[in-house]
Amino acid sequence: MKKERVKLTGAEKSELFAEGVVTVILLLLLNLSIIILIHLAVLQDQNLVNGIYFLKSTVTLVGNYHLWSWQRIFIICMAIGDLIVLYWRLIRRYHQMQLRHVISELHYIADGHFDHRISFAVRTDLQRVIDSINSLVDSTVNSINEEKAIEQSKDELITNVSHDIRTPLTSIIGYLGLLKTGYVTPEDQQKYINIAYTKAEQMKSLANDLLEYTTLKSNNTKLNLSDLHIYSMLEQVEAGFELEAEKKGIHFKIEARPKDLTIKADAEKLVRVYNNLINNAFKYGTGATEIKLVANLINKKTVELRVENNGAPIPEKSLKKIFERFYRVETSRNTKTGGTGLGLSITKGVVDLHHGTIRCTSDKDWTSFIIRLPLDPSQA
Ligand code: ADP
Repeated sequence: MKKERVKLTGAEKSELFAEGVVTVILLLLLNLSIIILIHLAVLQDQNLVNGIYFLKSTVTLVGNYHLWSWQRIFIICMAIGDLIVLYWRLIRRYHQMQLRHVISELHYIADGHFDHRISFAVRTDLQRVIDSINSLVDSTVNSINEEKAIEQSKDELITNVSHDIRTPLTSIIGYLGLLKTGYVTPEDQQKYINIAYTKAEQMKSLANDLLEYTTLKSNNTKLNLSDLHIYSMLEQVEAGFELEAEKKGIHFKIEARPKDLTIKADAEKLVRVYNNLINNAFKYGTGATEIKLVANLINKKTVELRVENNGAPIPEKSLKKIFERFYRVETSRNTKTGGTGLGLSITKGVVDLHHGTIRCTSDKDWTSFIIRLPLDPSQA
């Protein structure tokens, strides 16, 4: 921010000028009275006159020239004293004016102009007060904006959830309505029941995801850390998908380096992360033939966990957004895969709780979700 000096108004300049004039007059009167008093004192006291004369003669040079004269010295001293008093009075008044300007700026900000900052540069301690006021306003504005963002994201959440609930609910009501009429062939009856059931399942998974997401986001979620042997965990996770993998002709590959790699993590939540990522690979990796689950110790404190699948890639422009809640790649919205757009937000939430990071890369060969976790989150 560009700082400028306090600009005095015309009235203030006149006020300062008047103050100067009054001070000069008062000082002149004071000087005059001092001179008169001294003069009277000298006239009345012969000893003082003798003393002065003696001092004068001791410093008299050749040709009767005085090196210094009492009167001259006295007048110079008084003039210097006057200047100091004048300067002090004017500068004091000037500082008062600066303070007045700062106060009026404060009132302006307090009136709701929160984008305004006090831009004066002053040379006194007032500058520290100005800087503190500016940073106070900054932090207040930040808190207000954060509050607004939270409010807005809550509104978005409600809108998205209402929309995602309404869509399947409308079909459920529609199909149940048809069934209620009784004029449906047994064949259609079965079809409608199946559709209504699938839609109800979709709503259930939305409710579950939402509950999990909000629980993760609430600050009081604690991790239940225990020693976790990564390779064994990956084998167990893979076992859960064996049937589906066989059906789709997908082959799993598991690697852990070192093989006995063990980390401290919340096993239940980490398994949920793997389930999310593998489910996504099945759902969206169209044409995939292989899913790789790889774990590597990359340094003394960090482990890298990868879930990779071949098949259809994620478009470049979506890569940055896929961890946002409710975000779904355009092509996935139209497919019958279901999904709420919350899976990857939940995954990221779990990784964040472990003080880790997650990112995604995708090209025509591989889509990789790369997670980095500290070996011991309680010390991260
Ligand atoms: P959901 O699966 O409920 O739609 P996610 O948050 O899990 O939500 O995923 C967000 C989007 O990211 C998905 O809709 C999908 O488009 C895309 N996506 C996630 N994983 C993959 C993957 N392995 N391959 C291709 N696209 C993916």
